[in-house]
Amino acid sequence: MNILVVGRGGREHSIVMKLAESLKVTNLYAAPGNGGIEQVATCVAIDEMDIEALLNFAKLNNIDLTVVGPENPLNAGIANRFMEVGLKVFAPTKEAALLEGSKSFAKEFMKNYDIPTAEYRTFTSAARAKQYIEEKGAPIVIKADGLAAGKGVVVAETMDQALNAIDQMLVSKEFAEAGATIVIEEFLAGKEFSLMAFVHENNVYPMVTARDHKRAFDHDMGPNTGGMGAFAPAADITADHLAFSMDKILQKTVDGLMEEGRSFTGILYAGLIMTEHGPKVIEFNTRFGDPETQVVLPLLKNDLVQVFMDILDGNDPKLEWEDKFCTGAVVASNGYPGSYKKGVELPSLEPAEDFYIIHAGTKYAGDSLVSDGGRVLLVGAKSSSLEKAAAKVYDQLKQYDLSGFFYRNDIGK
Ligand code: ATP
Repeated sequence: MNILVVGRGGREHSIVMKLAESLKVTNLYAAPGNGGIEQVATCVAIDEMDIEALLNFAKLNNIDLTVVGPENPLNAGIANRFMEVGLKVFAPTKEAALLEGSKSFAKEFMKNYDIPTAEYRTFTSAARAKQYIEEKGAPIVIKADGLAAGKGVVVAETMDQALNAIDQMLVSKEFAEAGATIVIEEFLAGKEFSLMAFVHENNVYPMVTARDHKRAFDHDMGPNTGGMGAFAPAADITADHLAFSMDKILQKTVDGLMEEGRSFTGILYAGLIMTEHGPKVIEFNTRFGDPETQVVLPLLKNDLVQVFMDILDGNDPKLEWEDKFCTGAVVASNGYPGSYKKGVELPSLEPAEDFYIIHAGTKYAGDSLVSDGGRVLLVGAKSSSLEKAAAKVYDQLKQYDLSGFFYRNDIGK
């Protein structure tokens, strides 16, 4: 089969690596890809938002299956467009992807279908939003309604922070249209975990749980980032809580989407928090999570091409998982998530049997591999325990000269 993966991050490198293991693959392409993806697939210089160019590429190259990584093309309707012309695509339609694309839609949906989540109100008027915050007090959470690459959420610990966040979104319009409506949410306390599932209509096939680390520095200090590392599974989540999350959250969600004529095929990601009243939804994503995918897919025993085909055909993919733990730590450019330099040379990175390397913001400049983004790469490893997997990752990281970059020292520890 000829397969095209759309995207350029660590998540897509991870998907490409797993697909490359399959004997079903004849040609593997990525658009636009990155320095790591280039080592396993043919990268084509098409932006992930250029849907018509992707479509033409797929037609011209007899692509049998297109897999979409990032959220923006989903919300722009890439799946709708591919399906219109009869091309196979593993991705939800824009109607189903709205569950991630609009937080106000997601909140109302959860309210309608009685899916546990934080209490909330939506606002377009700064004055009304501020009045509500005065009533509720801090801590409180302010979210831009639309897609903002993980930057549109402020967990305000004080009233001042909350009022500032409202001004940023509704007055100075820092997130433009994505922040023209805001959601103000009750602050929930508890440990977070991610549960992703392959979904086709009413059928949900869960993956192993994972926990990501969003803050920039050790011990969850510093600003929020796209994710500085992750591990899987999150062993502190009990079988009961997992069953609850499956039945009362994921299953109810896909049933609700079907009822609304927003039939879902693809990956549903629930960002959950273990509150004293049980698991509640922090957010939904309608695609593979990043960096969770980089530690979950290595534990999948199945042929991923077959899994995608089974899901698209409405068959049970009979998922099997390794009884191991997987940890991954992200190496980021100094300064990230603020401003940082690109084009910094990376040391020679040869994956070995004991660990693997997933590229995010990298590219080749001539023969040398250089940084090309905030999150640059992830070093991951599997082992029989979380501690052993983390030890492998950090033993490896210590071997590299990573001046110009930083990583957290506490992932999986
Ligand atoms: P991303 O795109 O990076 O996945 P996002 O922009 O969609 O993130 P959320 O996942 O909704 O944003 O929130 C980001 C983080 O803020 C969460 O992982 C969580 O740590 C915190 N957060 C969000 N909502 C709440 C809440 N109601 N209570 C406590 N913390 C919250």
